Amino acid sequence: MINFQEQDGEFRKWCEQYSNGFYLTQKSHSKFVLHKADCHHAGSLSIGSSPTKHAKYCSLDREELVRWGSSEGREIVKICGSCLNPREPSLTFALQLRPNPVRE
Ligand SMILES: [Zn+2]
Repeated sequence: MINFQEQDGEFRKWCEQYSNGFYLTQKSHSKFVLHKADCHHAGSLSIGSSPTKHAKYCSLDREELVRWGSSEGREIVKICGSCLNPREPSLTFALQLRPNPVRE
């Protein structure tokens, strides 16, 4: 797993190089959103915006990210619906790992 913070160029390069990889966006201290590396959210960040203003945690191993993002007080609060299927059983499982599941 590799971490990018305030490193937009490096992050975009990683996503291009490992388009079959995945990343977590850190929304707050303990909350994360899961994306696939080729998600338009990673590249849509037009000039002037900064994708790594929110730290990114990247890996080719989705399970590694899911496990990491669901452990030690962290929680995956959202699976991106643009690049992943949030209804995929292994992903709904990740959401259920939340200590206090919130029904939406
Ligand atoms: Zn996405």
